[in-house]
Amino acid sequence: MALFRDVANLAEMLAGEASRLKKRAAIAEAIRTVHEAAPESEDAGRFALSIAGTPFAEADPRKLNAGGALLSKALLEVSGATQVALTAAYRKHGDLGAAGFDLLSTKDAGDSRLSLAEVAEAFAAMAVARTTAVRAGLVEGLLRRATPIEAKYLLKLMIGDMRIGVKQSLVEEAIAAASSSSVAEVRHAVMLEADLGFAVRRAFERTLSEARMRLFHPLGFMLASPVETPEEAVERFEQKPEIAAVAKKAKKKKTRGDDTDKETDAASPEATLSESPIAPGQRIIAAFLEDKYDGMRAQLHCGDPSQPDRVAIYSRNKEDVTESYPELEEAFATASSAATGPLIFDGEILGWDLKEGRALPFAVLGQRIGRKRVSNAWREQVPVVFMVFDLIFADGELLLNLPLRERRNRLEAVVERLVETARSPLAVDERRKLPQGVMFAEPDGDSIERLMLAPSRLVESVEDIERAYADARARANEGVMLKAAESVYQPGRRGLAWLKLKRELATLDVVVTGAEFGHGKRAGILSDYTFAVRGPDYETTGELLNVGKAYSGLTDAEIAELSAWMMDHTLEDRGFFRTVEPLRVLEVAFNNIMRSDRHASGFALRFPRIVRIRDDKPVTEIDTVERVEEIYQSQVDKPVEVETASED
Ligand code: AMP
Repeated sequence: MALFRDVANLAEMLAGEASRLKKRAAIAEAIRTVHEAAPESEDAGRFALSIAGTPFAEADPRKLNAGGALLSKALLEVSGATQVALTAAYRKHGDLGAAGFDLLSTKDAGDSRLSLAEVAEAFAAMAVARTTAVRAGLVEGLLRRATPIEAKYLLKLMIGDMRIGVKQSLVEEAIAAASSSSVAEVRHAVMLEADLGFAVRRAFERTLSEARMRLFHPLGFMLASPVETPEEAVERFEQKPEIAAVAKKAKKKKTRGDDTDKETDAASPEATLSESPIAPGQRIIAAFLEDKYDGMRAQLHCGDPSQPDRVAIYSRNKEDVTESYPELEEAFATASSAATGPLIFDGEILGWDLKEGRALPFAVLGQRIGRKRVSNAWREQVPVVFMVFDLIFADGELLLNLPLRERRNRLEAVVERLVETARSPLAVDERRKLPQGVMFAEPDGDSIERLMLAPSRLVESVEDIERAYADARARANEGVMLKAAESVYQPGRRGLAWLKLKRELATLDVVVTGAEFGHGKRAGILSDYTFAVRGPDYETTGELLNVGKAYSGLTDAEIAELSAWMMDHTLEDRGFFRTVEPLRVLEVAFNNIMRSDRHASGFALRFPRIVRIRDDKPVTEIDTVERVEEIYQSQVDKPVEVETASED
């Protein structure tokens, strides 16, 4: 019977170990030991999941539903500490787990027998608990039995942020080492089945190669890197004749299947070589150009023959957002009958202007994002479509390793098959709704096409991109995307194979760390937000560095929602100002960046304004202080703020 203290002790050791190799060896050793002690149990899998910082496997839809507020309350209850003491401990560490360790340190550290199975049982009960009180009771039960070090890591695990400098990829490597399997095989199984715990079992049972793609868990999204000018994009994609020989070699190496270095090689000119001879001086740009849509990125799963009506839509945060888009669910459930098996699409959900035949501004779609109940009024006011630009799974085959050129061909064929049926009515007849709320409408004259294929074509020149950019802007889209024609799909990577060109002033994606009450009509409302970017130590300590404060740009309704959320997620109440859980991401625009010691990042923004709330973007992907430095350096006059009034 594996004990949670082994997870806690290992985690504590890993937090203090900088060497990746040593970390991997220690995790591998621990997994092997747990497995050997009970080869038939799920303990080794649970152990791997805990070290990766996830209470449940990714494919498992269950959620603990335990946020900072609930966990803080439980901690106060069990430790008997005062709110003042908790606030002080939290301020010292910036981490609830570490604060919990301090508050419980007077507790008898005796010999805990809390097992991994018992923790799993409590987590399972939390996921189905109907009330907060029941959930809090379960957390208290765990914390009461835990030693201080166990409590520290239980809290971190429940928050979902271990801060021990261990990513899932390192645990995958450790599983491979522990079971003498290949890393590529472990990674592949995890990608297909999204179950780290099950991959441990497979690795020891030697059945990794039997892993099969399961639909209905999100794969990572491939992301784009920014370029400032069409010229820069062309330079990146251009094929130079002199590298032709190298390119052939590179291509061969790639087919051997080691995917660890694919971030750079798929985007490099070597990887975009075509067989045709290139005349000296001729510019060959093997890249597709598409509009950059300003909607919500989404991955859509459908067509599983065993559950033909099931459709799932995942956001970039990997959240299941299907409920918010019932018209897409209906349309793709209908279209599944025309599909020839499971499909995974990558695309953008857009609000659609039916009259003009183009996307509605993001702000209009934004009003619908996050809504769980979508009334007919919303359906009619903001009709949505799914603008598809990539195909990840089809014909029983994962297409990630096919070049974009080939994926695009297959996408076009699939869309042609489905487009006629992927329809749903603008509004539904409420009386005909099925109990689950889904209505499978027959396509008829009133229904609208919900599946659209993003136009895509090979680009020819800088001027061609310039023109396309202007056309895209004229269609009210954000800019253009350029994608290497031979590039593979890299889930979760921001490589150089996809480039985005949007030439506005730079914006930053930041997370709100604090909020202040407003004045006048905003008195009593938390309307002024202090926000941060990721610091250099973010990976290991979760370091966030404040960079500015803004209060303009949002609608009253958005501010009201944020304010209520901030009240609920307050970490420290300093009267007019509150520090809040760093979870809400904003995109902010500004006129320029100054060096300043007003904020911990060493920078301040001049005339900051909030462009939008970006709940679609996880905190792990917000901008970094290096990016701030980069924008700062790119300014012609690099302003320095002379006044020095430190705020954090
Ligand atoms: P950003 O959010 O600034 O990192 O930009 C990347 C985003 O561009 C993605 O998450 C997509 O939502 C969006 N996007 C819009 N159009 C496309 C497209 N044609 N291909 C890929 N991504 C796109």
